[in-house]
Amino acid sequence: MKNLNKKQVTMQEQSAEERKHNFNEVPLGYSKEEAILEASRCLQCSTHPCIDGCPVHINIPDFIKAIKEDNVQLAIDIIHKSDSLPAVTGRVCPQEDQCQAVCIMGKVGDPIAIGRLERYAADWDLQNREGGKIKLPTKEKSNGKNIAIVGSGPSGLACAGDLIKNGYNVTVFEGFHKTGGVLAYGIPEFRLPKSIVQEEINMLNKFGVKFATDALIGKTLTIQELMRDEFDAVFIGAGAGLPRFMHIPGENLAGVYSANEFLTRVNLMKAYKFPQYDTPIKIAKKVAVIGGGNVAMDSARTALRLGAEHVFLIYRRSRKEMPARNEEILHAEEEGIDFNLLTNPVRYVGDEKGFVKTIECIKMRLGEKDASGRRRPIPIDGSEFTLDIDQVIVAIGTTPNPIIPRTTAGLKTGHHGVILADENGATSVKGVFAGGDIVTGAATVITAMGAGRKAADSIDKYLKGKI
Ligand code: FAD
Ligand code: SF4
Repeated sequence: MKNLNKKQVTMQEQSAEERKHNFNEVPLGYSKEEAILEASRCLQCSTHPCIDGCPVHINIPDFIKAIKEDNVQLAIDIIHKSDSLPAVTGRVCPQEDQCQAVCIMGKVGDPIAIGRLERYAADWDLQNREGGKIKLPTKEKSNGKNIAIVGSGPSGLACAGDLIKNGYNVTVFEGFHKTGGVLAYGIPEFRLPKSIVQEEINMLNKFGVKFATDALIGKTLTIQELMRDEFDAVFIGAGAGLPRFMHIPGENLAGVYSANEFLTRVNLMKAYKFPQYDTPIKIAKKVAVIGGGNVAMDSARTALRLGAEHVFLIYRRSRKEMPARNEEILHAEEEGIDFNLLTNPVRYVGDEKGFVKTIECIKMRLGEKDASGRRRPIPIDGSEFTLDIDQVIVAIGTTPNPIIPRTTAGLKTGHHGVILADENGATSVKGVFAGGDIVTGAATVITAMGAGRKAADSIDKYLKGKI
C-alpha cells in the first residue's frame, strides 16, 4: 500500500463562531473537484467490507467509482437501488460505526468519507431534479390494492416509495400537520435542511402517494376501521415519540422540557419566530441538557442558537460512551457547549413562582459493564453540587407512543411497549405490518428505512398469497 492518500478531503463548514448564531446547515458539502479527489482514494478492494457495513447494502465501491469518473447520474442510480433518501442518510447516518468503520483504508489512514460522497451525489440529484432534468422513476400499472401507512417518518416514506413503484395505491396518515417524522420535527435545520426532506416527500407525492395530515390513527380512525373500510394492508411506522423522564424531584417545574417538546416547538412550530408564529418558547440564559445522544446534542446546539449564554450538557458516563455521532459531539464542543461528563442530575429546585432555578447534580464513576455493554455509572457519595439554570431539556430517550397498541385489539407488544413484528415485519394482526422505531425502540434513520422497505416487500408477497 504505497503512495496512498491517507487523509480524507476536508469538507468546508461554517465556523463555530458564525454558526452558533444561525440555523443554517453547518457542513457545506464537497465541490466536484473535492468529491473526485476523495473518490480517488477508494481502493476498490475486492472484499468491499463497506457494503456489509451499510445496513441497506448500498453498492459503495461502484457508486464511488462513478463519482471518480464524474458520472454522478450513475452514482445516484446505484445508490437509489438501496436507499431512497440518500440526501438524508448522507448527512445523518452514523457512518463511523457502519460502512466507514470497516473501510480498509481506515487501517492505514482515514476511511473513505462515504457519507460525504453519498451526500454529494444526492445533492447533485436534487439540484438537477429541480431543474426538471430528472425523470420520475417508472412504476407498475395500478393493481387496485390499497395500502395505509401510519406515520410519515423514514420507515413510512421508504415503505410508501417501494409500494407505489409496485403498483399499489398508497395513503400515508400522519398525526402531525407536517410530514417527515423525526426528519421534520426532531433533527434541526442546521443538520438537515427541511427543504431536502420536503423535496423527497414532494417526489413521492408526484409519484402518486397520498398524504393525509392531522390524522392520528387510534383517535381519528382506528387500524380496524382502516382495514374494514378501504385498505388491504396496513404498515405502522409510528416511531418512538414518547419521552422518558428520570422521575426525580422537580421534573414538573416550569422550564423543564422533554427534548421532543423543545425540538418540536422549534423545528416544526417555528417557536423561535414568536409572536410571528403562535407557539411560544422560553429563551433561556442558562440551560442544562440531560443526555449524551444525538437528541441531546441537537437540543444543546438549538438552545445555543436560540440565544442561551451558557449551555451545560450533563451526561452520566464518559465521552467514550456517548451514543451521539462523533461529528455532532465535535461540533457541540467547538460551539462551546459545556460538557459535564460523569455527572447525573439528582433534583431540580424552583423559585417561588414554580420556575426551575437550580439543578443539583452528583459526580459518577464507571463500574462493571451493564446489559447495554457499557460500564455502569455509579454515584460518588458526597460529590453533590449545584448549577444555576433557568431551563432544563431532558434527552434521555423515548419509547413508542401507546395510542395504536391500546386501540388495536390483538396487537401484541413487548418491552417498553414496542410492537412485536416477525422478520417479515408482520405483526400479530393479519394484514398489519410494522417497522422502524415502533418495533426496535429509538434507533437510526437507515434502520427505520430498511424496515420500511422490508415490510413493503412482505406486504407485496402477502397480498400475492406468497406468505
Ligand atoms: P419517526 O421518524 O418517529 O416517524 C414516525 C411518524 O409517525 C411521526 O411523524 C409521528 O408524528 C407519526 N405518528 C406517530 N403516531 C401516529 C399515529 N397514531 N397516527 C399517525 N401518525 C403517527 N438517527 C440517525 O440515524 N442519525 C441521526 O443523526 C439522528 N438524530 C436524531 C435526532 C433527534 C432529535 C431524534 C429525535 C432522532 C434522531 N435519530 C437519528 C433517530 C431517527 O431519526 C429515528 O430512528 C427515525 O426517524 C425513526 O423513523 P420512524 O419512521 O420509525 O419514526
Ligand atoms: Fe473503498 Fe473503503 Fe469500500 Fe474498500 S472498504 S471499497 S476502500 S469504501
